[in-house]
Amino acid sequence: MVVTSDIEKASETLRAGGLVALPTETVYGLGANAEDPAAVARIFQTKGRPPTHPLIVHIGGADQLDEWVEEASATARLLAEHFWPGPLTLVLRRGRRVPLEATGGLETVAVRVPDHPVALALLSAFGGGITAPSANRFGSVSPTTADHVRAELGDAVDFVLDGGPCGVGVESTIVDVTGETPSILRPGGVTREDLEAVLGHPVALPSTSHVRVPGQHPSHYAPRARVVLVEPERVVAEGELARQRGHQVGLLLPPAFADAPVKAHAVVTVPASTTAYARGLYGFLRDLDQQGCDLIVASLPTDEGLGLAIANRLRRAAEPRPSA
Ligand code: AMP
Ligand code: MG
Repeated sequence: MVVTSDIEKASETLRAGGLVALPTETVYGLGANAEDPAAVARIFQTKGRPPTHPLIVHIGGADQLDEWVEEASATARLLAEHFWPGPLTLVLRRGRRVPLEATGGLETVAVRVPDHPVALALLSAFGGGITAPSANRFGSVSPTTADHVRAELGDAVDFVLDGGPCGVGVESTIVDVTGETPSILRPGGVTREDLEAVLGHPVALPSTSHVRVPGQHPSHYAPRARVVLVEPERVVAEGELARQRGHQVGLLLPPAFADAPVKAHAVVTVPASTTAYARGLYGFLRDLDQQGCDLIVASLPTDEGLGLAIANRLRRAAEPRPSA
């Protein structure tokens, strides 16, 4: 549990140029003072993240938007009003308060207001913006509990705020609102359907092949085990073939096959609701790694609702890894 003195300590840590792991509704973030280039540089160092990959600036309320961006359009304001606090990130022109170190050198900046009482309390006590990518090493699975953060980053973080497990479980939806028509750069916690309902028109998605905006490497969100994607009705059979070839197989078993007989090393039956699946996804991948699986067989949910974000993360987890 987080108490007031924890918020004060975290806020002091940020002011002193330190790194604070904080809970948000999406995943745990590795936070630094957005206006302190040295602290921002420490985020990149700690994560092993290339410095050209822009960060998201978290702010305390939609009323602060103009402090961080230039020329927020009517569309940006409409989306901020509807979805903040919440898992929606808006890309806009960079305001002067945002150092280039935080945007990977871009003249645009990604901003959002997180919907988590601990994150909001910290933002309010601190008073500034907090750049916070997910609190994990670059390319690996995002943390959805404070224990995940401690296990992965340990002493590299100055202070960890433990706000319990994250409610949404996948990262924010990133929408580019710099142009005339908004487009989704990354699907996430706010669904495409919700965006379209508010905007009143269809919203373009990134192509399902490789997204080539900065910070969108093909391989990402990946467990240690290799991830193989097959049709839902093939998960059990492909898992069995891999087991016979000597793999320690983990299955993400589609709910329709929950009762199928399986001999895999470890099995997670995927929740039927995409809300529960998104919340559990990264924990499932971490658990399968921890149980010693070297191969995970999974299938993609349909692209409706949160299924789009889950499918995006699974596809990227299954991409070939860059050689070390
Ligand atoms: P995360 O990796 O979850 O911290 O989210 C940050 C991601 O937001 C980056 O990897 C980019 O893909 C995206 N992003 C951040 N800032 C920008 C920007 N100015 N323009 C385009 N995409 C951005
Ligand atoms: Mg991340």
